[in-house]
Amino acid sequence: MTSTVVDLSEESPERAKYRAITLHNVEGLPQAERLTDDQRFAIDVVSRVLPFKTNNYVVNELINWDDVPNDPIFTLTFPQQHMLRDEHFDEVATLVSRDASRAEIDEAANRIRMTLNPHPAGQLEHNVPVLYEETVEGLQHKYEETVLLFPSNGQTCHAYCTFCFRWPQFVGLDDLKFATKQANGLVAYLRERPRVSDVLITGGDPMVMKTRRFKQYIDPILEDDPPNLRTIRIGTKALGYWPYRFTTDDDAEEMLDIFRRITATGRHLSIMAHFNHPRELSTPAVREATERIRETGAQIRTQSPIMRNINDTSDAWAEMWREQVRLGMIPYYMFVARDTGAKHFFEIPLVRAWEIFRGAYNQVSGLARTVRGPSMSAEPGKVAVSGPAEVAGQKVLTLTFLQGRDPDWVGRPFFAQYDESATWLNELRPAFGEEKFFFEDELAHRYEAGIGAGTEG
Ligand SMILES: *Cc1c(COP(=O)(O)O)cnc(C)c1O
Ligand code: SF4
Repeated sequence: MTSTVVDLSEESPERAKYRAITLHNVEGLPQAERLTDDQRFAIDVVSRVLPFKTNNYVVNELINWDDVPNDPIFTLTFPQQHMLRDEHFDEVATLVSRDASRAEIDEAANRIRMTLNPHPAGQLEHNVPVLYEETVEGLQHKYEETVLLFPSNGQTCHAYCTFCFRWPQFVGLDDLKFATKQANGLVAYLRERPRVSDVLITGGDPMVMKTRRFKQYIDPILEDDPPNLRTIRIGTKALGYWPYRFTTDDDAEEMLDIFRRITATGRHLSIMAHFNHPRELSTPAVREATERIRETGAQIRTQSPIMRNINDTSDAWAEMWREQVRLGMIPYYMFVARDTGAKHFFEIPLVRAWEIFRGAYNQVSGLARTVRGPSMSAEPGKVAVSGPAEVAGQKVLTLTFLQGRDPDWVGRPFFAQYDESATWLNELRPAFGEEKFFFEDELAHRYEAGIGAGTEG
């Protein structure tokens, strides 16, 4: 590792300047002195395979350095040895130790990446919308009411979560051709799909964009004023990773002005904020940012995956939801992490995830029980684990669609054989000796016939 010193001395909390911290400058952090040689070496090795980026806010204001390496926020953005399987770690460690060439390390890294299930949910092939027999770039449409927009300048984040399923994009394994530079396709699409009521602008993190860029996506939508569009959602981790985006950044006020313009059209603006741990809600910066966003008339809804080594206790979730409600946010989803990347490091069996969910849910007031989960964003839809039950003398796991490719699936309880070790829908078997889950034939039919939210007229 090189050791460019990261000089944080001129920094004042009144006007923080964003600094990305990556393998190239991590050694220059004053806090890096607190890492052992093994930990530093592990960062070097693991970040050859999985993306590594954190920033000065996360390092200075969120991580509790007295508790490193167990600190949940450290684990959230810093690579650690066991995020790679031993044989993979050893292979790259050997190369790094003997100063192998960049090409040699990249070759090994890419080979390892391909074993980490880089494309977990078949999102891209089945959710591409079609208009006038052409695919619309930068959109995904899986559930009828909601279209996702991927702005090409919003395909990165203020820091990278070590568990993120978008890691292939961050290491350049996936190209960004699916993303779009403008909103024209979306505007035309909304006109032709009157059933779509929500647009979700997502990434990466669209809030990494400068306001003037972000505006280029919003203006055409507001100018066209599609009558069916009731809600604009923005998926972001900026409140967790860089709250100054809404307070002291140069163009913070202009961003809040855009929020005001959206709500002034009578539409609902929902900031879909990603928080993984209650500590992210604790700084003066995030509190001020929250207040400023809420003053625009926007609501903030919250979501996070549940992960071992980061937030695998009921108390962490209960505290997070309680604090969110106090700050005026609406708890929305608890997700189960997808099978990709460092999944073995973070994974929690579905039954255990449900226990943690329930242990948190049953200690918060009804105002925090807007949250749903634990939910898997799987091929057929979002499937929540409603919990174990005994039916006709058989122990089963009850599941429910929160969203389905076929809206008719939503809200119907269905049953899997009880399985304490399963971590995803595809590891579960139908209960009562049945061959298939109730939705499987229809799902196959839809794929075969090319039926989807984005292909119907
Ligand atoms: C989760 C999700 C949505 C939004 O679903 P809601 O239940 O309305 O929040 C939309 N599209 C995709 C692909 C999703 O995964
Ligand atoms: S902020 Fe979201 S998109 Fe970005 S790395 Fe984290 S989980 Fe992934």
